[in-house]
Amino acid sequence: MMNDSGFTCAICGTPVSDRYHCLDRRTESLVTTEHDGKVITTEHIVNCQVMFIYCSAFCWDIHAPTVAAELQVSKPYPPAGLITPCSRCGNPVNRTAPYISYAISELQDTQTEPYAVARCLDDRDFAILCKNCEAPDATAGAEVVDAPIERETHQ
Ligand SMILES: [Zn+2]
Ligand SMILES: [Zn+2]
Repeated sequence: MMNDSGFTCAICGTPVSDRYHCLDRRTESLVTTEHDGKVITTEHIVNCQVMFIYCSAFCWDIHAPTVAAELQVSKPYPPAGLITPCSRCGNPVNRTAPYISYAISELQDTQTEPYAVARCLDDRDFAILCKNCEAPDATAGAEVVDAPIERETHQ
């Protein structure tokens, strides 16, 4: 995917600046490790596709109900936790095994590298789906992605 400001907003059509929102479809899982008696949860993203780019949170808010309807999500923005109800059918999703998530993130492109690197300013799960609703992507043979990315989730 091109990353040099060739993006236009999916809603209003204006070219996006170096700071924008993006809706990703990810195959990911949570891994917990213990560090000095503290449990740290790390998100392993094994596959990530950009679905839509938005110029602002305002345009995302306009599109969110349409995306929720298309995904048949009745309860967007699931709670954090290792077991989360599927945003579509309500069955528990064990997040330590790979699952599909749709996440909205706010990114800032930094120009300090020879190629564009996006820094994540904010990241929020929009929907988490159980494997009966959407099967996680096979990781082998998948298109090359920036994976695996490890980061700590906010608690
Ligand atoms: Zn827009
Ligand atoms: Zn489900």
